[in-house]
Amino acid sequence: MQALTPPLTLITGASRGIGAATARLLAARGHDLALNYRREAAAAQALAEELRQLGRRVICVPADVGDEAEVQQMFERIDAELGCLTGLVNNAGIVAPAVRVDEMSVARIEAVFRVNVLGSFLCAKQAILRMSRRHGGPGGAIVNVSSRAAQLGSPGIYVDYSASKGAIDSFTIGLAREVIGEGIRVNGVRPGIIDTEIHASGGMADRIPEAVAGLPIQRLGRADEIAEAIAWLLSDAASYTVGAMLDIGGGR
Ligand code: NAP
Repeated sequence: MQALTPPLTLITGASRGIGAATARLLAARGHDLALNYRREAAAAQALAEELRQLGRRVICVPADVGDEAEVQQMFERIDAELGCLTGLVNNAGIVAPAVRVDEMSVARIEAVFRVNVLGSFLCAKQAILRMSRRHGGPGGAIVNVSSRAAQLGSPGIYVDYSASKGAIDSFTIGLAREVIGEGIRVNGVRPGIIDTEIHASGGMADRIPEAVAGLPIQRLGRADEIAEAIAWLLSDAASYTVGAMLDIGGGR
């Protein structure tokens, strides 16, 4: 049975991949949605239109999650157009092309940490200001999208990315314990190798067959398989789950 006031969830990086799959699943489960993206306006708009057909209220909110002013404006738009936020999925993330640490530029490392780490902090801050009972909010739930790479390190490929996801793991545990007493549950997921465009964006599509051969499950994960875990962690079914990281890596 659907709640009287539907949950309202912001998904960052929702124009494609895991974010878009999560949007589809949450809409089907009765969430109203704010879909964040940075560049792919047409894809985000098409997804929003698709989800409105399900009867959900859906808006697109472009912002670079690593830019504080843009993040603040994004949340103010959600306040004005949709109302009281109850959920956040910190999903936006980037990788850079495979290099060793001794070949990494400062600009590259900063870019990866800005989006993956700072972006998650900035969005969580704005979400807490709205959801926390300490600030007069109704409570809510946050899911951070980390990676199995946080624990594997990705040597010779992208140690910066792995380290940024390691930071997300610590962030998840600390924030979870900081705000659970204010009615906000914070958890995370650590996906394995999922079939999305992120690999091509990092110039690594040609490495996928070799990577799959080394996976216990012998296939890539699908974005909807990650979305299921995110939706569960956001839901009341996970009411006693706090500061958990779910590994979803096909045994990896
Ligand atoms: P993807 O297909 O490359 O999609 C990334 C999304 O993030 C896009 O919607 C993109 O929007 C958005 N984005 C990128 N930079 C942004 C920024 N600065 N501000 C706002 N949005 C931004 O990636 P994915 O594979 O679905 O990955 C989603 C999350 O899962 C990431 O955090 C990733 O690290 C994590 N993950 C993925 C895998 C995997 O194998 N795919 C494994 C483990 C963890 P625009 O295109 O509009 O810029």
